[in-house]
Formats: sequence, structure tokens, C-alpha cells
Amino acid sequence: MTETAFDFASIIRTIADYPLPGIQFRDITTLLADPNAFRTAVDLLVQPYKGEMVEKIAGIEARGFILGGAMAHQLAAGFVPIRKRGKLPHETVRVAYSLEYGIDEMEMHKDAVRPGERVVLTDDLIATGGTAEAAVKLLRELGADIVAACFVIDLPELGGRKRLEAMGVTVRTLVEFAGH
Ligand code: AMP
Repeated sequence: MTETAFDFASIIRTIADYPLPGIQFRDITTLLADPNAFRTAVDLLVQPYKGEMVEKIAGIEARGFILGGAMAHQLAAGFVPIRKRGKLPHETVRVAYSLEYGIDEMEMHKDAVRPGERVVLTDDLIATGGTAEAAVKLLRELGADIVAACFVIDLPELGGRKRLEAMGVTVRTLVEFAGH
């Protein structure tokens, strides 16, 4: 379900043709800079998981770090980063994935999550779901119990939510935008 009580669509800036022609870039820096919008977004994202014994928030580089850090604080959970290849200093697990506009690899520290730990995954936006699917694979490789995946923005026409749901992951988003 997408939350509609707060007008997130108006506070998110859209940049046409960035970083490539045809992409409508949904820029959440305008949401993050607004105290009420930022707080409301984090409050809504964590609401279902209060009292749910979430042990870790896993945030996808880089905007997932901003949301995930705040969510972890709210839930008194730990935070673990999922980063682009080569950024994490200790032993990692790695997976390749395709973006809406490119291909990349992401990593997590091998000891970031223990088997059976209850983890909520987060990022700013889900488009095709390729990034989040890769993150789910990494978390499952480490034995995580994925409670849910949370995003501020869903681009439903790109099918990411359905892709994650087909993997058995509960998806929570706050606002939808049509198109790419
Ligand atoms: P995807 O793997 O296709 O679901 O793409 C999601 C990732 O790419 C997220 O980390 C987003 O931050 C970024 N992303 C993809 N499409 C957009 C877009 N239209 N506007 C802003 N960020 C995007």
C-alpha cells in the first residue's frame, strides 16, 4: 500500500532527462531538506515495524543511507550499508545487478548480518527493482530474515514492487509516480 496522507509528490523535485534522455529523475533532496516532510516520511516508513523486533536496517548507497540511518534510530535498530563495489574495507559478499540506466555491482560486509536477524531494507526509490532484488539476494545469502523493503517512491509501471513481492518480500512505499 502507498501512503497518501502527506503530499510527498509535491515536495519531491523532478528533473527531466537526468542522468540520461528520457529519465524523469525524482530528486528527494527537496524532501530531505524539509523538516516536516523528512520526519513524516521516516515516521511513516517505520510505523508498521515498531514493536516488531527489527534488529537491522539495511540501506542501499547512497540515499538509502540517509533514510536508513534515521529509520534505525527510530526503531533502536542497527544500520548496515549496502555499497557499490570496492567501498567496503572488510570481507564482503558481492552481487551484480542492472539499473534503470546501467549495470553495477554491490557488496555487503560478510559479518554485517547474522543468520536469522530481522532486517528491513530501504532505499529512496524502486523502479525496475533490479537494485533492491540484488540487495535481497545479498541479505538472504547472509541468512537475514527480511521483514520488509521500504521506499519513499514507487514507479509502478517499471514493475519493481511486483518483482520483490514475487521473491516473497513485503514492500512498503509512500508515493507513486507514473512513467519512468
Ligand atoms: P531500480 O534498480 O531500477 O529499481 O532503480 C532503483 C535505484 O536507481 C535507486 O537506488 C534509485 O535511487 C535509482 N533510480 C532509478 N530510477 C530513478 C529515477 N527515475 N529517479 C531517481 N532515482 C532513480
